[in-house]
Amino acid sequence: MRYISTRQRPGDHPLAFCGILLEGLAPDGGLYVPDAYPRVDGETLDRWRAVLADGGYPALAHAVLGLFIDDIPSDDLLAICRRAYTVEKFGTEEIVPVREIGDGLWLARLSGGPTAAFKDMAMQLLGELFEYELGRRGTVLNILGATSGDTGSAAEYAMRGKRGITVFMLTPRGRMTPFQQAQMFSLDDPAITNIAVDGVFDDCQDLVKAVSADRGFKARWSIGTVNSINWARLLAQVVYYVSTWLRLTTTNTERVSFCVPTGNFGNICAGHVARQMGLPIDELILATNENDVLDEFFRTGVYRVRSGADTFETSSPSMDISKASNFERFVFDLLGRDGGRVRQLFVEELGERGFFDLSGTVEFAAARDRYGFVTGSSTHADRVRTIREVEARSGVVVDPHTADGVKVARDHRDGRLGVRPAGLVVVLETALPVKFAATIREALGREPEIPTAFAGLEDLPRYVVDLDNDVDALKALIEERLGAH
Ligand SMILES: *Cc1c(COP(=O)(O)O)cnc(C)c1O
Repeated sequence: MRYISTRQRPGDHPLAFCGILLEGLAPDGGLYVPDAYPRVDGETLDRWRAVLADGGYPALAHAVLGLFIDDIPSDDLLAICRRAYTVEKFGTEEIVPVREIGDGLWLARLSGGPTAAFKDMAMQLLGELFEYELGRRGTVLNILGATSGDTGSAAEYAMRGKRGITVFMLTPRGRMTPFQQAQMFSLDDPAITNIAVDGVFDDCQDLVKAVSADRGFKARWSIGTVNSINWARLLAQVVYYVSTWLRLTTTNTERVSFCVPTGNFGNICAGHVARQMGLPIDELILATNENDVLDEFFRTGVYRVRSGADTFETSSPSMDISKASNFERFVFDLLGRDGGRVRQLFVEELGERGFFDLSGTVEFAAARDRYGFVTGSSTHADRVRTIREVEARSGVVVDPHTADGVKVARDHRDGRLGVRPAGLVVVLETALPVKFAATIREALGREPEIPTAFAGLEDLPRYVVDLDNDVDALKALIEERLGAH
């Protein structure tokens, strides 16, 4: 298995998995993808059913990842998967349990990990893979990231205690939920520096970009990132599509549809990969909030990125995006894996006009017909009503992002998005309600339940450094911390 860029040119050299593991964008600005998706047949699915039953989630992860990773010895990869997905970290033997929430809808519970969001599923594996590979190379990595909430805490809880890794995480001061702030800032660890920037999330991201653009500084201090376009993160997410399909079926002829609340097209891109591998997925139902860039594309064929001013602050904030950073991976497949056309769309057309238009093309028709995509969007009123209705029907309290998914899944089931899905529909739960208490209070008139693992979190001392929105100040802080190490 080798990896190429979505903007590849003839003659480019494909790379092995560990060659892209620690990377973000490819040097040409594209995203890494496998040179071909491995295909699974009925025999493999039967074997995976047995693997999940006998060895649990870590053994299944090992089997799936093994199709994409051929430069880590199999035994080492199994040990990595076993360390990443433990009952201690995820609270259940299943790691990703499924449960019914009424009306033929199911929930895949991806938020049982250390930070109560599905990002733990990828980040916990990434922490183990990074530590392993850095150890092999005898090098270190200082991760510099920006977060609006869930990514940063998932990264910190995954990277803490890993040999050779430190984390500098920028957050927009005062803009995360109280629980999110407590979760990050209560970490008392010399390898983790929380930084509250006087600015918004975009300012934090710009600071990361500015530091990364200084190649000398980046090399001297071994700066890297863990952003949402990292291929290994996406790959980790393929596993739970497989485990969920296995848990909900008994034969390989049964198809399941997945409804995925999405912002950066990360989570659902993993579903696309699983479907391309031959996992019997019927439809991939994509749910956005008011920031409906992706819903618009799948309805009209026009992909139009928004400006910061046109991006709404919503009550499902982890989906508040102006562009979907992983979308290029899907477009690459949609355009027959033509790097030249991807470059034309993402560099020339998006760069010059801010949109591209595939309406009326055979490729665009294939998005639904061949790739199974169906989309819808949700509003604040929808998610409040959905939280209330799901709770009344099933006793389950879903977070606002998951509520966006349930809302769109119901629209589809009731025929409001076109043809109704034939089989079961699973909504991917992306966070626990405790992270977004204000919306839960609005919907249910009470506080969300605080899982025992998080009791008292908001009362702990905080470890966070205040910083002006200034790149030199950030560099000075990094030098001071790393120099003292
Ligand atoms: C990150 C996140 C999302 C969006 O996921 P993508 O991979 O960007 O599509 C949705 N919900 C929650 C709670 C998140 O943290």
